[in-house]
Amino acid sequence: MQNSEIKTACSYCGVGCGIIVTQDAKNGVEVKGDVNHPVNRGMLCSKGMNLHYVVNDTSDRILYPEMRWSKSHPKERVSWDTALDRAAAVFSSIIKKHGPDSVGFYVSGQCLTEEYYLVNKLVKGFLKTNNIDTNSRLCMSSAVVGYKKTFGEDSVPIAYDDIELADTFLITGANPAWCHPILFRRLEQHKEKNPKVKIIVIDPRRTDSAALADLHLQIIPGTDIILYHAIGKRLIEKGYIDNDFIKNNTENFKLYKDLVVSSSFEKASKLCGVTVKDIKLAADIIGKAKGFISLWAMGLNQSAIGVDKNTALLNLSLVTGQVGKPGSGPFSLTGQPNAMGGREVGGLANLLAVHKELNNPTHRQEVADFWGVTDISEKPGLTATEMFDALESGKMKAIWIICTNPMVSLPDSRRVEKALQNAKFVVVQDISHNSDTSKFADLLLPAAGWLEKDGTMTNSERRISYLPKGISAPGEALSDVEILIRFAQKMKFNGFNFNTTEEVYKEYCLMTKGTKMDISFLNYNRLKNEGTFQWPVPDYGHPGTPRLFTDKKFYTPSQKAIFNIPTAIENTSEAPNAQFPFILTTGRIRDQWHTMTKTGKVSRLMTHIPSPMLEINPIDAYKSSINSGDIVVVTSKNGTVRVKAKVTDSIKEGVVFLPMHWGKQLENDLNRTNNLTNTVVDPISKEPDFKFTTVAIAKY
Ligand code: SF4
Repeated sequence: MQNSEIKTACSYCGVGCGIIVTQDAKNGVEVKGDVNHPVNRGMLCSKGMNLHYVVNDTSDRILYPEMRWSKSHPKERVSWDTALDRAAAVFSSIIKKHGPDSVGFYVSGQCLTEEYYLVNKLVKGFLKTNNIDTNSRLCMSSAVVGYKKTFGEDSVPIAYDDIELADTFLITGANPAWCHPILFRRLEQHKEKNPKVKIIVIDPRRTDSAALADLHLQIIPGTDIILYHAIGKRLIEKGYIDNDFIKNNTENFKLYKDLVVSSSFEKASKLCGVTVKDIKLAADIIGKAKGFISLWAMGLNQSAIGVDKNTALLNLSLVTGQVGKPGSGPFSLTGQPNAMGGREVGGLANLLAVHKELNNPTHRQEVADFWGVTDISEKPGLTATEMFDALESGKMKAIWIICTNPMVSLPDSRRVEKALQNAKFVVVQDISHNSDTSKFADLLLPAAGWLEKDGTMTNSERRISYLPKGISAPGEALSDVEILIRFAQKMKFNGFNFNTTEEVYKEYCLMTKGTKMDISFLNYNRLKNEGTFQWPVPDYGHPGTPRLFTDKKFYTPSQKAIFNIPTAIENTSEAPNAQFPFILTTGRIRDQWHTMTKTGKVSRLMTHIPSPMLEINPIDAYKSSINSGDIVVVTSKNGTVRVKAKVTDSIKEGVVFLPMHWGKQLENDLNRTNNLTNTVVDPISKEPDFKFTTVAIAKY
């Protein structure tokens, strides 16, 4: 290690816990929670406290570039120069022959901000295509659109410190007890100290988060908007609304009021599968709150109507005036450690850096001028699933995949497999050989991992952390920043003469100047010496901004927040039918991360849930003579999964659950949940509908 003690941030979820790394007796590293860190105050969850095993075990690491000269040849070790010369030659020739949109980059919410910024500059500014998307498309793109439609920009209004200031929480479409554990621990501690704090959970499963709730609404998947509208109706009818805020600081209230007041509690009860009494009770708890916070994640976002679900939920904060003041606000939880950083640098195919819009010609020109290029293509890039469709159809010829494993994580795995087989050239830039995607690589590039490179990332509450380099990467692995710079230089692009990650960061910071997310006065020195900051940090010595909209001025043209009226109230996913009578919903388990390339190699993290299991309600199990431990075959239109059943009344009748983590290499492909998932996406956010696939279940 380069220093005896390094302060950094956890590389897993979007909570962004502070970690102190020290050297262990065997020259490896050990980790502990940073007691002075504002997020976790010394606490770490099971994944964070076992991070050192991932760092110390390099047995699965890609150590040098590997390349095959044709699909029929095996991969062989090559030098970095040979690897990147070939990448540049192949990308140039494909672009020359088929145009810039015949190539694409698929990156990750685990990329550091500097990497994210650089790859966007490379692709949108210099390769002249907007075909760059991130796996964050799969988890929070509906939340991005929801914030933009309601507040005018993609801006999370609140801070974790608001948790201890609130008295009412609505957790909907999220299981933070497992997926954002330290944030949830703060909520638990707050409730322990303040028993009057109320928690409502909306979820088809009785999760560990629901176990803490005063009220659990065990909803039928897909009916969230109907439920939020019924709650809105009750809030309005009982007068639990903030008339001053609505009048002075919002638009469209009348449309919203007319819509929700005309809804029926009885109909909502029937469609949502919760009682009228509970709907009214939830509304009364929210209506009486002094400080009301809604928390949500992929249960809302991963839906055919994910954007509408988001805006319908945000309307509850607007109608109660619970935004822009301490202990209140809507709070979308990001799954990945730097999903927020990706949003900031325009890491989605339809965005540009610093919240500029690709469909705005002025914004495009401003970004082009900043990068010193003539223009940026006005054509929206292909999103995550669209890129793989384009590879399958042959419209796209080459893809460069950085730090993500689409063979396991994208919906309809068979289609992804066909897409990668059909691609003319696949580059995979990753740390581990244990990725199902890496076997499709024509060029495999070894990347440095956590602690082996420096850079910044932003957590769910807009908090930017600096992550220093502490150890050398194994073999010939390079930081993603260096790989991208070397490739850009091979392509003979100007504008990539960076010598350090800090120089990339400085360029990005300059770009933020004068924007709503201005960090032009937040340099590496401040981050290293003073710790973490929440953006914006717009002035010299500025302490950062915990809370947005405290002046009740929003980022819309009128400076008012907007009540959005959903285009779809009822779910548009294919409904259960005689052939596929169950609704499959997918998600994470407590001790695993994504596709298990890191957590899957830590034996103590495999003890909690060692293999995938289908959660099924006892009534449904009884009808099919299924007992816990039986092997069941789950079938959808797209494929099959064979796993053990876990009969549990914690899941609603008619609904089954599978964890999303397992892939082919770790077990067999019949464990891979995304063999089953449907290919529907939200029409605006293009986020996949992972939470609603109709399936059949049979005992094996
Ligand atoms: Fe890491 Fe998230 Fe656990 Fe914190 S809560 S230690 S950021 S995985």
